Amino acid sequence: MKVKGRLILALALAFMASFGCGKGVKVLAQESNQDQPVDKVWPEDPRNFEVTEQKIARLDISVPILEYHAANDVPGDEATLRKGQLQQEFYWLKTHGFHTINFGQLYAAWYYGYKLPRRPILITFDDGYESFYTDVFPLLQKFRFQATCFIIAGYVHTWIDTKVEFPTMTQAQLEQLQASGLVDIEGHSYSHPNLTYVPSSRLEQEIKGSSEILSKIVKHPIWVFCYPYGAYNSTIIHTVETSGYALATTQNEGYANLAQGPYTLDRIPILRDTSFQEFQEILAPSLQ
Ligand SMILES: [Zn+2]
Repeated sequence: MKVKGRLILALALAFMASFGCGKGVKVLAQESNQDQPVDKVWPEDPRNFEVTEQKIARLDISVPILEYHAANDVPGDEATLRKGQLQQEFYWLKTHGFHTINFGQLYAAWYYGYKLPRRPILITFDDGYESFYTDVFPLLQKFRFQATCFIIAGYVHTWIDTKVEFPTMTQAQLEQLQASGLVDIEGHSYSHPNLTYVPSSRLEQEIKGSSEILSKIVKHPIWVFCYPYGAYNSTIIHTVETSGYALATTQNEGYANLAQGPYTLDRIPILRDTSFQEFQEILAPSLQ
């Protein structure tokens, strides 16, 4: 699609420019209350929880997963956001009864009968730009919203191989975000390649090796994967599955539903040229 094509190009350009168990806890049906502190347990791997129901895939639950990148205001860079855009979108979500959830809650709802709050939505930010810490995290705290950051394990502020600095978050910032209970850190490969062009000998490093690095930083299993540039094929999906991930997201556009397959979940890109009107129209199905 036109928008996706532009997004991928913008991301590629932006990237080139800037980069070169809670075992024993029962899954309970519950309504979450956004005025209460969010549950800090859920970002851990839900497959390790003692579940009270049989694993049954629920195909009737569709949830929007918003896909953002950088949050700073850079005219001409589609992967950034207009000044005030995120605040306006978050305020609209809050005042229209949306409840942010994390992937643990989504997984539990899809497989174990966990009762989601009304109008559930996931907020994801790819690539781990510093603007997430400076511009997004304060808004999450203000609105008591949860979000997921898909982090490139080799680019935690410096490129791991050469120690050259990049405008991505530091290890200390990732630790602070995860400890806040508002942000879940998940995987976005080791070096952000188009994985369909990566030789099979390097796939393991990109997919499993990256999760080992990140899990040491954030002290929980990395179990959700985000394909760089949304690119995948059957070999990549198989490697993601055998590397211990339970879910994976794409750049295919739409609400996420298990009928898409747990390793090829749709998302909804929000760009700086996504108007407020378009934002509301995209999420209109949740208001019905
Ligand atoms: Zn990315």
